[in-house]
Amino acid sequence: MDGAILPRETTGCHGGRETMQEAARSAGKSESLDRLLADYPRGPHDQPQSMCPAFGSLRVGLRMRRTATILSGSACCVYGLTFTSHFYGARRTVGYVPFNSETLVKGQLFEDIRAAVFETARPELYDCVVVINLCVPTASGVPLDLLPKSIDGVRIIGIDVPGFGVPTHAEAKDVLAGAMLRYARLEAEQGPVARPRNKVENQPTVSLIGELFPADPMVIGGLLAPMGLSLAPGVPSREWRDLYGALDCAVAAAVHPFYTASIREFAAAGRPIVGSGPVGVEGTAAWLDAIGAAAGVSAAQIDAAKAQALPQIAAAQQANKIEATVTISGYEGSELLVARTLVEGGARVPYVGTACPRTPWSEADREWLEAHGTHVQYRASLEQDLAAMREVRPDLAVGTTPLVQAAKELGIPALYFTNMVSARPLFGAAGAGALAGIVAAQVRGREKFARMVGFFDKVGTGEAAGYGSVGVPRDPPGARERYRKSRDAKAKAATSQSMGS
Ligand code: SF4
Repeated sequence: MDGAILPRETTGCHGGRETMQEAARSAGKSESLDRLLADYPRGPHDQPQSMCPAFGSLRVGLRMRRTATILSGSACCVYGLTFTSHFYGARRTVGYVPFNSETLVKGQLFEDIRAAVFETARPELYDCVVVINLCVPTASGVPLDLLPKSIDGVRIIGIDVPGFGVPTHAEAKDVLAGAMLRYARLEAEQGPVARPRNKVENQPTVSLIGELFPADPMVIGGLLAPMGLSLAPGVPSREWRDLYGALDCAVAAAVHPFYTASIREFAAAGRPIVGSGPVGVEGTAAWLDAIGAAAGVSAAQIDAAKAQALPQIAAAQQANKIEATVTISGYEGSELLVARTLVEGGARVPYVGTACPRTPWSEADREWLEAHGTHVQYRASLEQDLAAMREVRPDLAVGTTPLVQAAKELGIPALYFTNMVSARPLFGAAGAGALAGIVAAQVRGREKFARMVGFFDKVGTGEAAGYGSVGVPRDPPGARERYRKSRDAKAKAATSQSMGS
């Protein structure tokens, strides 16, 4: 393997996507890159304004039993990724194969990764070892596809997850989930495989695609029961053998609509795919119809499921009426579903922005929202989210950290999507009640926010923050100009010295 030599200033999140892609292509990664660019298409906004995308893949590996995860990337990236994993309670070791310019360029890094994989792949401990190429090793062509496919029965999965190929950490979850499903599907096609731990006998199942709040699968299981359907293990899975159970479903439900690679594997296994999710009365009715039809359930059973679920959802909405204007932005991929729940609950939602791409599996939600006056922005940038929030001046802004910060500066109540909204049930009656409750609590605090803005009004903002009534110190007259001249003179002297030497 010949590693491409990358100029130092290009090797990072802000180093230039084109340069990194070019390097990766000339290092033999065209196929991998083309696949990523097709699965995760760019939009008007094409670079993450969130955490390093590879975190999504890392998290999926770390949350799976008997799975070892090894990172191959720059130390600073690995530091950030391991820090974030442990911040989110990984409690698992993250493997790392370090490199320097020499081991990268001479191909020794691949040999080091190979040795680490052999050392790690112990069948008494692991079902699977995952190796994740971050930006620099991907751009340098480190060929993880040349790793053995299995060692003593331990599966080896190598994936490229560069920031210049995968736009969001949400989609990076799919890169690993899809690679695992593919491996498991090919195993199942070749012969008998391990039995999933909680296999449901003699009942068709539905596999949910997407990382959901823990109560949500139980709620959805209750919605499916009158149709004689139960839940298969979801994807991303918690254990290798669950992948077989997921693939064995009657229907795959793309609740999170951006899992393109995973959906491809379900389709290759011959499973029908249903988009959207059971949110609100209308969303739940349409979803039950679609799931029932895809699973070949009778109209009477579908009606029974609706008769059980819909009145409960309507009652939860009635009991928790939302009277507020809300803007929503996020990068989890469930933004449209959250918006639907809120609109049905009585909220006005003029804007929903998602960092994820438009796919066929969220079309029903987009159409429904647009018919209810919501502007849906796929691949939304922070600037678009901020502009929408400033224009609408909602009663509540739900969004990412910088958006929440900007909203609070304006005295607008704001909620973190990831920590607050994604950490609550979303589906069925439970979702309708939980989301309405949190919106109401925040909107009630509006007065407090206005008082807070008034209180801090006099302390200054931006570069004047903290000076308050004292006023920002002024530069002595001419100081900036004198400093600029002395800097120019020093630069000139340094240039002529280097030319002379
Ligand atoms: S691996 Fe992540 S943190 Fe490192 S350069 Fe790429 S996008 Fe940035």
